[in-house]
Amino acid sequence: MHPSDAENRDVIIVGGGGSGLAAGVSCAEQGLKVLLLEKQPHLGGTTGIAVGSFTASGTRHQRKNNIDDNSVDHNEDAGQFAQPEDEAAGNHELRAFFLSHAGDTLGWLEKMGLRFHGPSPEPPNRVPRMHNVVPNAKSYIAALQLRLVRLGGHIMTNASVEGLLRTDGRVTGVTVSMNGIQRSETCRRGVVLAAGDYASNAQMIAEHKGDAFAAVDGINPNATGDGHRLVASARGQLLNMSITYGPELRFVPPPRKSFSQLLPSNPTAVKLMGTLLPFVPKILINAFIKRLLVTWQHPEDGLLDDGAILINKHGQRFCDELASPGREIAVANQPDKVAWILLDESIIKRYSQWPHFISTAPEIAYAYVDDYLRLRPDVAVAANSLQQLATQRNLPTAALQAAATGTQTVDGVPKIKRPLQGNRWVLLGPVKSYFTTTEGGAAIDTSFRVLDNNDEAINGLYAIGQNGLGGQILWGHGLHIAWAMTSGRLVGRVLAESNP
Ligand SMILES: Cc1cc2nc3c(=O)[nH]c(=O)nc-3n(C[C@H](O)[C@H](O)[C@H](O)COP(=O)(O)OP(=O)(O)OC[C@H]3O[C@@H](n4cnc5c(N)ncnc54)[C@H](O)[C@@H]3O)c2cc1C
Repeated sequence: MHPSDAENRDVIIVGGGGSGLAAGVSCAEQGLKVLLLEKQPHLGGTTGIAVGSFTASGTRHQRKNNIDDNSVDHNEDAGQFAQPEDEAAGNHELRAFFLSHAGDTLGWLEKMGLRFHGPSPEPPNRVPRMHNVVPNAKSYIAALQLRLVRLGGHIMTNASVEGLLRTDGRVTGVTVSMNGIQRSETCRRGVVLAAGDYASNAQMIAEHKGDAFAAVDGINPNATGDGHRLVASARGQLLNMSITYGPELRFVPPPRKSFSQLLPSNPTAVKLMGTLLPFVPKILINAFIKRLLVTWQHPEDGLLDDGAILINKHGQRFCDELASPGREIAVANQPDKVAWILLDESIIKRYSQWPHFISTAPEIAYAYVDDYLRLRPDVAVAANSLQQLATQRNLPTAALQAAATGTQTVDGVPKIKRPLQGNRWVLLGPVKSYFTTTEGGAAIDTSFRVLDNNDEAINGLYAIGQNGLGGQILWGHGLHIAWAMTSGRLVGRVLAESNP
């Protein structure tokens, strides 16, 4: 880069996940000079490992399916996913603003070549609103990166932003560490924080949620809340920091990349897949989505309610399976932080057909015991005796038998409701306790400006995506990515109209 490029730079974006790349593209589309800094060697962040659902109202896909919808109804329904106490703490006005722009964002992404399957229903949404990107969320990254580069945006990877630079109170740049060397980067219009969430920052989790939760891992180990720390360093307000998506029990990911992850996500391939999609029979699409379902999925809590038990690597029960979040915290404190779920014959039978499934993305597809045995042999094993089962997973037989029959006694672990029995056994796991994401973020206004404790905008500092959630509660599938993309798209317009 020439020194003159740096002098004329308008915007610095911290983070090259979904929201940061969307912001980069939007700024560049408005003719702004962009520098995007990503701490990892590659772009993507949590967005790059997500399923890719994008929930929105008033989309072309809804209209094509004669679905009459609007963002006011959508906001009302979105408020029914979270626990009432979390929803009560939410920023409903900001969510209403976001949802009124989400449908247009989907259209903006389609113009870049992205293709979506759906909309699919997800109650309590009153109409289908979930759109799934083809083939998965890596496509967002590939399409946005290509467009940003084409528009002349400058991307630096291995560039970890560590501090903010201020001139007369205004944020005018950042300090960044590249391969251990510190440097300063400045810009004329604003610094946009798009550094994701803090699901893997044990210290932040302990501070805001309690020490007991610190042992729980985030799914994305790089989601370390750097952007939240930068907000705090500028005396910005952080809202709803104790609200998290999880902890939840989830199957550990497969050792090899899943079929969907191996599909090409470059824009040409995506366009081709999108064109062919309407001609693919629904049964094949569902089978494909089922494969997605068995990668990171959360086994339904109903399994434990129906009597399945949790076992550690010593073959022992270690918690009250019915108590959440106690059981998730207990799993995080077991050897290697893992556990298995033991099903007996009657539970296997129950979880082999509708309405009892092991995991789902609502109304798209449901995965049952046999699906797991077929598609995820690394986390599902069956046998006709407990002894065979124990041998297959290298667990101590006697301990497993004691746990299953209820003869095991461990201090603080209540007796099982009924002994497990029969001639067919399934062991699911390993499962781990994970935070999927965190719901705390910078307080912002509808221009994405970070607000201080007096609700005054901090000059030159913006936050988007998970970094700038602004107190919104975005439960249900598909709203986090919709927010990442929408906040990124809109902040570009705000910056274009701002004074340099
Ligand atoms: C398994 C899984 C599946 C999911 N599926 C869905 C889904 O289908 N639909 C949905 O809506 N949501 C989903 N989510 C949640 C959703 O993916 C995320 O909330 C959203 O994509 C976050 O986007 P973001 O841009 O805010 O953060 P990210 O995509 O995480 O981007 C942040 C980027 O900032 C970088 N960064 C961090 N610190 C620094 C620093 N100091 N300097 C420079 N760069 C930095 C990070 O490395 C990262 O690349 C899923 C989450 C998980 C874990």
